[in-house]
Amino acid sequence: MARYTGPVCRLCRRERMKLFLKGDRCFKEKCAIERRGYPPGQHGQRRGRRTMGYGLQLREKQKVRRIYGVLEKQFRKYFAEADRRKGITGENLLVLLEQRLDNVVYSLGFASSRAQARQLVRHGHVRVDGRKVTIPSFQCRVSQVVQIKDGSRKNEFIRASVETARGRGVPDWLELDAESYSGKMHRQPTREDIKLPIQEQLIVELYSR
Ligand code: SF4
Repeated sequence: MARYTGPVCRLCRRERMKLFLKGDRCFKEKCAIERRGYPPGQHGQRRGRRTMGYGLQLREKQKVRRIYGVLEKQFRKYFAEADRRKGITGENLLVLLEQRLDNVVYSLGFASSRAQARQLVRHGHVRVDGRKVTIPSFQCRVSQVVQIKDGSRKNEFIRASVETARGRGVPDWLELDAESYSGKMHRQPTREDIKLPIQEQLIVELYSR
């Protein structure tokens, strides 16, 4: 699947919030939102613009797409699957996105951003139940073991990420074994586990128009 390759801080500025797309830099003063917290472009600093209705729904959808690094076509497929499943569509959508392999690798702390996690997966550094998986959108299931392959554990980026992640913590629905560079989902994530400020109902409204 294709991915966005343009400037990422611009995306945060467009959504007027930190989407944490650049790893450590997002926690430093260099973050573009800290320095220029207004939308990019010639008219970014215009005042008195209020987003309502369709615009609000669109921005929420774009925000979630950008956080998880998913393009429109694939995002629509996630929505269709979330809608097909039992339960609340918006919550199903977020749970499906959380269970992506690149998100699990990031949440376990093996990468400093979802984009870096995606690259680790694409480059064959990740094993799921002992098998090489190179598809970032792979859906992880309960009790599957996600592990960094033996030969990649000396990689300085991975080691540094694991060290940083020790301080950041791992979500409740995941279990990390830092010594063996592995982790697993011991239960499905729920809406309460997803701390991102997302109003998923707006996305459901947008696609239900
Ligand atoms: Fe967004 Fe991170 Fe760039 Fe800040 S540094 S604008 S949070 S991607």
